[in-house]
Amino acid sequence: MLIEKIKQLKQEKQAVILAHYYQRPEVQDVADYIGDSLDLSRIAAKTNAKIIVFCGVNFMAETAKILSPDKKVLLPVADAGCPMAMMINEKKLREYKQQHPDRVVICYVNSYASVKALSDVCVTSSNAEKIIRRFQHQKICYVPDKNLGLYLKEKYQLDLETWPGYCCIHNNLKPEQVQEMRHLHPNAKVLIHPEAPLEVLRLADYVGSTSGIIRTATESADQEFIIGTEEGILYPLRQKNPEKKFYLLNKGLLCRNMKKTTLPDVLRSLETETHEIIVEESVRIQARRSLDLMLEWSQEDA
Ligand code: SF4
Repeated sequence: MLIEKIKQLKQEKQAVILAHYYQRPEVQDVADYIGDSLDLSRIAAKTNAKIIVFCGVNFMAETAKILSPDKKVLLPVADAGCPMAMMINEKKLREYKQQHPDRVVICYVNSYASVKALSDVCVTSSNAEKIIRRFQHQKICYVPDKNLGLYLKEKYQLDLETWPGYCCIHNNLKPEQVQEMRHLHPNAKVLIHPEAPLEVLRLADYVGSTSGIIRTATESADQEFIIGTEEGILYPLRQKNPEKKFYLLNKGLLCRNMKKTTLPDVLRSLETETHEIIVEESVRIQARRSLDLMLEWSQEDA
């Protein structure tokens, strides 16, 4: 009944529902597109729908609005936010830039529009490696995720300063957990998201975005995998690979904010057209520049 109503309203209002891989399974099921930040930003930039209902956290819906200013972008739960995105703000980044005018500022997509607007280019965990390598011989400041920054700094020997931000879910992972899980599942490959600490990433067989983890597990001949990212990814992994086994690296890998959105929230959002995302136009134009560059460079290198 609920699902039927959502589908009907979606059609009537020419809306499209986008959902991140970390969303609840029933929300992923009702979505038109499921993906990671890069996939969903590409879809948001191209869609012909009049309304985008973004099932994720607020910086994601804001990114959709920056890329699709003529659409009405809705976030079903107003306070679904990302703590990492709140670990940096415009004022602090301005001060940093004044003190370090020689550093290129590269921002992770997990940031608000005002931070994207002050950055030279934006990246997601899917394209950060490709894009950051373009700046290999320059001084870089990477904001706000210290873990992805430190991982790339070590991998490519970069002159890179990191902001002290982190994802409170991935940052809690410990090397001992990887060792323990490897002991329990000796044939499993370990796939970890780069928001985890460097000492954990060093123990992984593969480090990559949620899309990268899904692709790697799906294409691999291996049958067992230890997954080091938010538990929502297990749903698409098991759907695509019903014969393979997936073990979550740690049961604490659950993002409370990503799980706030329920089906009744999606329905209410469509019915009442709330909560609409608004981005001030001058900020949007500047933020769009860093996102457009990201989309262009990830396309070129794809
Ligand atoms: S999983 Fe981490 S980075 Fe992603 S939305 Fe939740 S807190 Fe933010």
